[in-house]
Amino acid sequence: MTATASLISTDVDFERKGFQTGMLRLPWSHDRSAYGHIPIPLAVLNAGDDGPTVLLTDGNHGDEYEGPIALMKLMQRMPTLAIRGRLIVIPALNFPAFANGLRTSPIDGGNLNRLFPGARHGKPMEMIAHYVETELLPRADVVFDFHAGGASFDHAPTLLTSPPASDNAGRRAHYLDLVRAFGAPNTMVMDLLGEDRTFAAAAERHDTLFLCGEFGGHAGCDKANLAIVESGLERVLHRLGVIEAMPSNKAPATRY
Ligand SMILES: [Zn+2]
Repeated sequence: MTATASLISTDVDFERKGFQTGMLRLPWSHDRSAYGHIPIPLAVLNAGDDGPTVLLTDGNHGDEYEGPIALMKLMQRMPTLAIRGRLIVIPALNFPAFANGLRTSPIDGGNLNRLFPGARHGKPMEMIAHYVETELLPRADVVFDFHAGGASFDHAPTLLTSPPASDNAGRRAHYLDLVRAFGAPNTMVMDLLGEDRTFAAAAERHDTLFLCGEFGGHAGCDKANLAIVESGLERVLHRLGVIEAMPSNKAPATRY
């Protein structure tokens, strides 16, 4: 280990072929556990071929539920799912917040989506951001990070997109094709709003295709929004060639 490598370890081997479940092991030394750690569950399915790596994260904020539920349902299917490429699925990235139904982490107040690029020597949530930035983003070709409004508001189901610059026409067209495949009821095309502490900003630094969205709110789970997330994700994975089976539903037209 070098002095810059993340202090978060994992019992999962990202390069091993097949299906694995395990955890990210976030060291957390505190009054009640000197050598304690926080386990953050994850699952990996690797076809061992040259297909794309798709990183699916949720629970970036811990009171937003459509995405985590969609990813947990996907995890249940993964052991028997035939894919090309690799799926890395983390349904509750800010696990302390998720376990407590809060937007931010109750142990350090960290709002994970305002902490990128994080810090190796930082507080627990900064260490998660640093791990994503240094270990996960370099492995990913495409990232999905699902959100919902959280306790404070309710958001119309909307895919939030930042297409690659128009001087890279092929890459931009590929991205916009994925946006159409997702087929959210609403799609917002936006820049980073001057905010460079978000997961989206981290993905942009790594030149990784990034899709996120807001699919509900009020710290509940709307069944219709859950279906939007699940079916949209299925169509995008098919479009990327990760899953072969043609999704039964056709992408609805989106409203930009
Ligand atoms: Zn959020």
